[in-house]
Amino acid sequence: MFGLAETFSRQSDLIHLAAYKNELETIKMLHSLPKDKQKHFNELTKQLLENLEEPTNKENCAQLSRSLREEGNRVYKSKSTKNAVDVKECVLAACRLYTQAILTAEDAYDELALGFANRGMALQDFGYFQQAYDDCASAMEFGYPQKLHHKLVMRQAHCAWQLGNAQQLEEHIASLTGLQLNESYAKQLEHLQQQLKVLQAPEQLPQSPAVPRVCHKILSSQSRGRYMVATTAIKQGELIFTESAACFVPIEQRSRICQQCATSLLCAPIPCPACHQRVVYCSRRCRQLHAAIHRYECAAYRRNLLGMLGVSHLALRLLLNYLPQWLQQLQIDCCTADQLWQALICPAAEDCSVPIRQSQQSLCMITHLDKAPQEELLYHALCANLLQVYLFSCTNFCEGLQAISCQDWHLVIAALILRNAGQLLVNGHVGDAVVVDDLPSNEFALLQPRIWQRPYHLRLGCLHKLSSCQLSTAINLPYLSLCNHACNPSLRTKFDGGAVSNFAAFDIAAGEEIFNCYTLDYRHSLSEQRQQQLQEIYKFRCGCSKCARSKPDADYLAFHRYRCERAQCKQIFVPATHLNWWQQSEEQLSICCTACKEPQLMSWYDEFHLLLEHCDEPRMRGKLYTAFAALDAWLLDFHSLKLSLANELIVACFAANEAGPALDDRDYAELIKIIELWLAGIAAQSGSNSLQYISKLTYLLDMIAGRKHKVSAKQLQFMRDSFDYLANETREIFVNYYKDFIEQTS
Ligand SMILES: [Zn+2]
Ligand SMILES: [Zn+2]
Ligand SMILES: [Zn+2]
Ligand SMILES: [Zn+2]
Repeated sequence: MFGLAETFSRQSDLIHLAAYKNELETIKMLHSLPKDKQKHFNELTKQLLENLEEPTNKENCAQLSRSLREEGNRVYKSKSTKNAVDVKECVLAACRLYTQAILTAEDAYDELALGFANRGMALQDFGYFQQAYDDCASAMEFGYPQKLHHKLVMRQAHCAWQLGNAQQLEEHIASLTGLQLNESYAKQLEHLQQQLKVLQAPEQLPQSPAVPRVCHKILSSQSRGRYMVATTAIKQGELIFTESAACFVPIEQRSRICQQCATSLLCAPIPCPACHQRVVYCSRRCRQLHAAIHRYECAAYRRNLLGMLGVSHLALRLLLNYLPQWLQQLQIDCCTADQLWQALICPAAEDCSVPIRQSQQSLCMITHLDKAPQEELLYHALCANLLQVYLFSCTNFCEGLQAISCQDWHLVIAALILRNAGQLLVNGHVGDAVVVDDLPSNEFALLQPRIWQRPYHLRLGCLHKLSSCQLSTAINLPYLSLCNHACNPSLRTKFDGGAVSNFAAFDIAAGEEIFNCYTLDYRHSLSEQRQQQLQEIYKFRCGCSKCARSKPDADYLAFHRYRCERAQCKQIFVPATHLNWWQQSEEQLSICCTACKEPQLMSWYDEFHLLLEHCDEPRMRGKLYTAFAALDAWLLDFHSLKLSLANELIVACFAANEAGPALDDRDYAELIKIIELWLAGIAAQSGSNSLQYISKLTYLLDMIAGRKHKVSAKQLQFMRDSFDYLANETREIFVNYYKDFIEQTS
């Protein structure tokens, strides 16, 4: 049995790629081998898809799910013996267990139905009304006993009332009226009928979201292609444009995100039961909206195929998303692969200056496959071909193509996937999100019982739980892709799931070009590293204002200045290599002073880590603060290593305090100094409106909320304003925390 890598390697040996012409010609080369080689090649693809099938043991799944649900029931029932705070904890702990039960049920529908029904009850109890509403519907969908449906409908009616949804409430009341209900249910129904009248009073129209003023335009020139310029002066922090992604894929991470809206904070994940729970949604609405894509991806998720294919997964999604529109534009009856390809690609390629639909725009974005090394081109071609074979043999994809007859559809489909992949290599983006650190893949941030007091309201001292940033999506943003590259980007991009907003990173003058940065920026990387990456992927050299300076690396190297340990030398130096040695390897790389050439012992590095291990002891903590202050002798200014050690120290001390209250006023005074230095360093490198900065600000906000620290009203307002750079779901949590614990203390 071969895995993907072995299969591709064997297939590569059979192929000799001729000079690149276009995507279709490349794919044809995989299908015009000598007969026996072709047979072997096709056989390898087929075997791979067969080998990846992972059968489930339905009995085992059902049993495991049942025991998790029963444990959930026990926890849920134990709430009757608890005080108000602990009741909330019990209810959320039950939600968590019911979620595990749902995620392990796979296609055991009876268990799924019961899991959803029970979780709906607990979610409603905690106050997640929309999610509870959905869970009742899911329970009925998966076969919850008919004679008990009225219980779930009653729950839905309650939730609809809580959510202020008069229409749904009315529907549910109608379906309950006329049923034989016991006294308690009859009373509840009567109550809801009264509430419906209140809800049906005329309501105010919701406000429409802010639309940015038009402050930029797209220009086009023969030599530069298309680019974006400011039409008026734009102030730092002003919204320049927004874009809604038609397509993204989750980056394989420990925590799962909604496949439709990319939300990373899930409290009631709804899995697809047919693909080993690898795909989850935040709501039934999202599941439904994603159904047109997932019907063709489900079998691939079942084989865990897509995570292995990198950019080709997003390429597949683009195809699934746009193909219906591309087919509509086709006006030719019957054709060969060549004719079909011409008909699809040519109208798109002809004129790129007029505004066109996103589906068309997507076909005419640039690719550099023509300049790609053979190996790379072949790899992407093999991925595209594998996905084509998958679509035709493992799904009913071909039914959608019957309107246009062509014997060689499979060549065209593979070529389209290859084309998308090529475009994404140069135009794909990566979205980030604030998440709860260190959660295993079957855990969800909003279901952690110890940190939430009620929906979207954290407990005191828990904001720093949201101090991690994670790359969560690979995302297609054709409009953002119109911006050229500079190493000091004019944009600060905020990812709100698939909705993306771009703010001015600094004041931009009228007429100035607006740049995005395709690599790490000039404060995070060496100019030569960026040039290499730009050359390799995007095929150009950067001549931006930062790169054109006589010392293009000055800003980056300012974060790497040491003072020589040797008493006779004491010179300030930046090492010639291994700038980030502490991130790179287990063994300590030797750093030499560039003035006296002597290696630096850096004994303080190991001593610091030794103290860190014992930071639950007050005496050792005292030494740790001293050791941190002493770093100033060797690590200058905001040295990256100093910031990294500050991070470790703060995380360790907060963890020690959670394990059993450990910190006293002296600790807090010391920690605040270190946190402030750390934040100033992050602001200097990433900016104070960056996600890196705001996520770490949570430690200081926890100190302020716990009245261990006071800042001026102006500083507080500044922190509060920075929340606007967070995705809506995260912003809501930060704002709630601010209102609950900080506003009234100031
Ligand atoms: Zn969603
Ligand atoms: Zn599925
Ligand atoms: Zn540059
Ligand atoms: Zn020296």
